[in-house]
Amino acid sequence: MKCFCGGSAALQFEDIGLFEGKLILKDQPFYHCPKCGENFSTSKQVSKGADEVRKFLGLDRKFISTGGSIAATIPPVLAKQHGIKKGKKFRLVSESPKKLAIILE
Ligand SMILES: [Zn+2]
Repeated sequence: MKCFCGGSAALQFEDIGLFEGKLILKDQPFYHCPKCGENFSTSKQVSKGADEVRKFLGLDRKFISTGGSIAATIPPVLAKQHGIKKGKKFRLVSESPKKLAIILE
């Protein structure tokens, strides 16, 4: 892999700790250029890591049914991040057939 400095970057692997060490992404590939010291990843390498993060956070979910309504649950990590608690008000905004946004008050 060619570095922008003209150097030749070598493939390396390292463990990356995320979320205060709760998630360890093992052997994450990246390129290191010995000439300029730059570390970089390809978009394919990044998207594989992102898939693991989504899985860890529980971001891919299914709707559930409750008392005649369809409900979506919010994973705890997102609830904490956005200050979402029972009774908090929100608005649903239909942005496209595939995208429904939650606007917090
Ligand atoms: Zn370089």
